Amino acid sequence: MKRILLGLICALAMAAPAAAATPDLSKMGAGELAAFMKAFPKGGELHNHLSGAIYGETLLNWAAEDGLCVDMTALAIRPACASPDFKPAAAVIADEALRSLVVDSLSTRHPGFRDRSGHDQFFSSFSRMGMKPSREGDALAVVMGDLARQNTFYLELMVTPQFFPSRSLGARVGWKGDPAATRAALSEAGLEKLVPTVVANTDAMQARAREVLRCGTPEARPGCQVTVRFLFQAIRQGKPEETMAQLQLGVATVAADRRWVGLQLVAPEDSQDAVTHYDTHMKIVDLLTDRGRTTPVALHAGELTLDVAPPETLSYHVAAAVRVAGARRIGHGVDLPHETGAEALAAEMAAKGVLVEVNPISNREILGVKPEDHPYAWLRKRRVPVALSTDDAGILRSDLSGDYALAVKTGAGYGDLKTAARNGIAFSFLAGEGLWADPNVYRKPVAACAGQVGNAEPRGACADLVAKSDKAREQWRHERLLKAFEASF
Ligand SMILES: [Zn+2]
Repeated sequence: MKRILLGLICALAMAAPAAAATPDLSKMGAGELAAFMKAFPKGGELHNHLSGAIYGETLLNWAAEDGLCVDMTALAIRPACASPDFKPAAAVIADEALRSLVVDSLSTRHPGFRDRSGHDQFFSSFSRMGMKPSREGDALAVVMGDLARQNTFYLELMVTPQFFPSRSLGARVGWKGDPAATRAALSEAGLEKLVPTVVANTDAMQARAREVLRCGTPEARPGCQVTVRFLFQAIRQGKPEETMAQLQLGVATVAADRRWVGLQLVAPEDSQDAVTHYDTHMKIVDLLTDRGRTTPVALHAGELTLDVAPPETLSYHVAAAVRVAGARRIGHGVDLPHETGAEALAAEMAAKGVLVEVNPISNREILGVKPEDHPYAWLRKRRVPVALSTDDAGILRSDLSGDYALAVKTGAGYGDLKTAARNGIAFSFLAGEGLWADPNVYRKPVAACAGQVGNAEPRGACADLVAKSDKAREQWRHERLLKAFEASF
């Protein structure tokens, strides 16, 4: 009898699926952690600038194909060989030492390059890239391919459409004393007439990306499986009316085209214009979006340390982005624990569900914030939702898996990273109701999908939800990937 019982128990144990043991990431060596993070489904990337996503080698290859030149003094790609000190990009590629020097110039890989800080090297590199606007579709294909290789299939990408037409119209119209009067004057001057060009350029960019990835053919690359939405990014430098023209065009674009899902404000937050006009920028976003209610808003805020800005600047940027501009997501938030009333602000963000897009590698390279000094753990402890992202993988010589791996050095465990990955879709600006009733916790699916999350196919009301909601569809796919991944250990 005893033997029969034992046999029965053994048979039952073999039939039941093994409960997945939670992996202890802190005990993994570098190689094991890298391979683990590459395969781990990371949900969605919410903070990725198209202009900073491409590695220097690729930019140089495109420059050579497009017949561009390199200014050998500034180590910058330029449209033509304007002086004897310029060389054709093709000639630079042919000389390994020069090629390496230009890649140094387009990235943060060489610490102290030309005596610049990481911050200055990073922000100045954008002016040296010289990528032609017609290469945006190629760049999009690179980003989609990189994400798919990392088992991640949702991307919210920051792009700057119609930069010169919108800003020059803003400069021409001028500041009319307050945001409301300026908005009326910008519309009167025809700002919104730029929307069809933005839509047409988006069509062209996506068509080129699909062509590069061979989507819709038998040779379709995995990148074709990535769902892409766009954030309209405005530059927080120059005059407020120039920044406002970009933001107002962004609001009109989001209203007109479902691929465009929200606004962003970018450029060094510590720069003179950004600091001087910070409050005005927040009031502009408040007016244009009805405090984030009519157009989703994500804002870079708190990408600051005392190395780059004085204490007063560090005291309120995240608070104003949340409370005045109505931001639903904060890019970086590194200075959050240093802001006035930080604990109350964190509690408010946790209650409202305002997410912080944490970029560990970017913060290390640009701000010099070591993983052990990063506030990611502080945010988690206060239940502020957090997602992980790359920021500018091309300049930073990184990838999303590397950001997840570095997050482990801040004390994050497997459960934390699983939540970060799920947050990358739940807190996206994708349309529709999500699969989860409790985002950032993930114990309770919405009623329609109770007991079904992770199944092969949704049934009944859950199938209806997944069919009609973009967000639920992406979440369903992610949960399938997660289940398959967890079955592997
Ligand atoms: Zn950024």
